[in-house]
Amino acid sequence: TYVVTDACIRCKYMDCVEVCPVDCFYEGENMLVINPSECIDCGVCEPECPAEAILPDTENGLERWLELNATFSGQW
Ligand code: SF4
Repeated sequence: TYVVTDACIRCKYMDCVEVCPVDCFYEGENMLVINPSECIDCGVCEPECPAEAILPDTENGLERWLELNATFSGQW
């Protein structure tokens, strides 16, 4: 899955939401999040994010963000 990280906080761009083929972006408290159980790992959103806030969860140190994305999108 891909995860949204802190660079998204208070970002006004919604480009990622528009390109996601499975609509798995949700509104978190002050940022967008990706539902990890719905994300199909297509990677289309990553280059669309002007804040470079979207990363694959295979990158190191993203456990906290993955958990936060799961929590604020409603479920695993
Ligand atoms: Fe949506 Fe694909 Fe991004 Fe996952 S990787 S959030 S499916 S656009």
